[in-house]
Amino acid sequence: MITLAEAQRLILQHLAPRASVPMPLAETHGRVLAEAACADAAYPSGDRSMMDGYVLRADAEPGEFRVAGEIVAGAVPDRTLQAGEAMRIFTGALLPEGGGRVVMQEDVQRVGDLVKIARFGERLFVRAKGSEANPGDVVLPAGTRLGAAELAILAQVGAVLPSVVLAPVVRHLATGGEIVDPATKPAPGQIRDTNSTLLAALFADAGVTMLTSQRAPDDLDTLTVLAGEPSDLLVISGGASVGDYDFGAAALRQLGFTIHFDKVNLRPGKPLTFATRGSQAAFVVPGNPVSHFVCFHVAIRLAIERLSGREPSWNLARLPLTGGEPLRPDPRETYWPARVFVRDGQFAVTPNRWSTSGDTFSLAGTNALVRVSETSPADGRAETLLLDVPALA
Ligand code: AMP
Ligand code: MG
Repeated sequence: MITLAEAQRLILQHLAPRASVPMPLAETHGRVLAEAACADAAYPSGDRSMMDGYVLRADAEPGEFRVAGEIVAGAVPDRTLQAGEAMRIFTGALLPEGGGRVVMQEDVQRVGDLVKIARFGERLFVRAKGSEANPGDVVLPAGTRLGAAELAILAQVGAVLPSVVLAPVVRHLATGGEIVDPATKPAPGQIRDTNSTLLAALFADAGVTMLTSQRAPDDLDTLTVLAGEPSDLLVISGGASVGDYDFGAAALRQLGFTIHFDKVNLRPGKPLTFATRGSQAAFVVPGNPVSHFVCFHVAIRLAIERLSGREPSWNLARLPLTGGEPLRPDPRETYWPARVFVRDGQFAVTPNRWSTSGDTFSLAGTNALVRVSETSPADGRAETLLLDVPALA
């Protein structure tokens, strides 16, 4: 049996980022830039006003100015500002030749064709040409994950077809003769298939859509056919152990996958199995939903991040423990469902009520996993894996 750290090392060692392709900007949310994005021009493209007001020459002194015209955003000024002149100007408009200072309209007195300005403030209210970026400047380095802010930056520099790492194609197979569709009332001995819904949402949270999710019987031949469908990442739910009806690893072996581990010193999730065939990855995850939740966050997520070209995230923080269920130390490295919240301006963590890996209800509200080892923490702080914080690029 290997440690979780060793399992994580094997996952990262055997997987590489997928190919990169140019993709329409609107489809790149959550993807990773394969090449740096650079400014195509100066930003701003010329000196621009930051206010609605009046533009004056840089060397002007407070006094009276003749209003010589008006410049709106989008217009190109066609005259040079002379001494003693001001021009009406609006936010975002280009300054005229000779202009160097904008005075807010609130700070002037307009009388007919004249503006009177008693004093100047400290600020010029001018965004100087190239003060944000100049042509060729890297505005986003390769490897950046594209969230809302990054998409806005690409739009600004006109990078409408950025080269990004492809998302992995993910397939899911839920095995077990006992599982039925959640819309069905289970007959005696049956249970609803919880994992398909759980995994679809976990993958979506990680920025990846599952291509297919199917239920399969505990039958080696059927499982082998279904597992043979092409994918970058295959997750088989259930059938991870060594029971008579656990066929996950056997199906993968038949398909020519190499099993890198089939047991991890992890609670819940000990029979977690990881295999690869060429660039394809596969996991067999013990069937209980809490095992799925934990295995996803401590192992599968690393595979998604690697395949997607992202930096693997592992956000452990020591947080004060407040209330909740007392943590039970265990020789297996345990990841206990918990809730992190802010109290009096500080993060704190409360372990959920939790007994067995089959207890899906214990997951409600979970946004962290507390790592529990053989000894309880002495200082009232718990090592806490934060689930919603992305890695630093
Ligand atoms: P297994 O790993 O196949 O031995 O399954 C372990 C436990 O998880 C059993 O109690 C299964 O009934 C349960 N289980 C397996 N698959 C699912 C599923 N898709 N949804 C909910 N529970 C499941
Ligand atoms: Mg099973």
